[in-house]
Amino acid sequence: MSEERVGFFTDTSVCIGCKACEVACKEWNALPEDGLSLTGMSYDNTQALGASSWRHVAFIEQAAAPRGRTRLPLVEADSAKGPAPGPSGATSPGPSGTASPGPSGTASSEPSGTASSEPSEAASSTDMRWLMSSDVCKHCTHAACLDVCPTGSLFRTEFGTVVVQEDICNGCGYCVPACPYGVIEQRPHDGRAFKCTLCYDRLGAGQEPACAKACPTESIRFGPLDELRERAALRVDELHEAGVDGARLYGHDPEDGVGGGGAFFLLLDRPEVYGLPPDPVVTTRDLPAMWKHAAGAALSLLGGVAAAFALVGRRRP
Ligand code: SF4
Ligand code: SF4
Repeated sequence: MSEERVGFFTDTSVCIGCKACEVACKEWNALPEDGLSLTGMSYDNTQALGASSWRHVAFIEQAAAPRGRTRLPLVEADSAKGPAPGPSGATSPGPSGTASPGPSGTASSEPSGTASSEPSEAASSTDMRWLMSSDVCKHCTHAACLDVCPTGSLFRTEFGTVVVQEDICNGCGYCVPACPYGVIEQRPHDGRAFKCTLCYDRLGAGQEPACAKACPTESIRFGPLDELRERAALRVDELHEAGVDGARLYGHDPEDGVGGGGAFFLLLDRPEVYGLPPDPVVTTRDLPAMWKHAAGAALSLLGGVAAAFALVGRRRP
């Protein structure tokens, strides 16, 4: 890895579910559409990550908003690119429909301009909330997809990201069950596997990935991984101070089962709620031990055959 490792920090507390990231990803990478039918089950018609959906904004409709999670402090007002986050249970626009800066330097949807962890009248009159989260390939430190690829189509870039090269993929599909997050998928009628490249071509040209560029609330942050981790820790502290006890990081820990992700998240509830595995483990973790055992068994077998030949040879006159 010749460059500094870079990645994504996706702060779901400020996602408004606009799906600009999904659209920007599709547009930049010239991804085919996934069909235009409605599920009838949710406003989330993309439903999942896939060969043609490298970003997926999940809409989670929860029955009730746990106390203290109705209003969240926004990121610094001067860094916000667009209007205040909306109805996800993160924040909602003020009477004028715009966010105003709070006294502590944070933007707020309060008419008075103050951030609060107390449920608003509007929120307390409703029995549900939206959680919105833009999911993506985690660009794992220990990437099982890459471990099992027999052609070298999947490789680790100089930025520390994991990329699949469509002209080398032979469509064997080994990477699909290897991914502990169910991210990578083979395209029907084609067979080759596709997933987020973290806009490898844009990084090479010194540009940020298309999804991060398009996100109006800076829910998707791109940058050096160490800086993103520091920023994320501060954001969690800020939310906890505001009474948002459910705020937590996911995929940031280098000690976790995949060695930490190059893409990690701030969630407002348990990972399972977002359809993410709570304790992902690199599926090739036991491969070295298995190869060792197999090599031991093969050596024993060879030894046995050699001994048998030696015995037969000695008995001959
Ligand atoms: S194992 Fe899955 S999440 Fe990790 S880099 Fe590969 S495709 Fe992405
Ligand atoms: S991550 Fe940003 S661009 Fe994507 S849906 Fe959320 S607010 Fe919109």
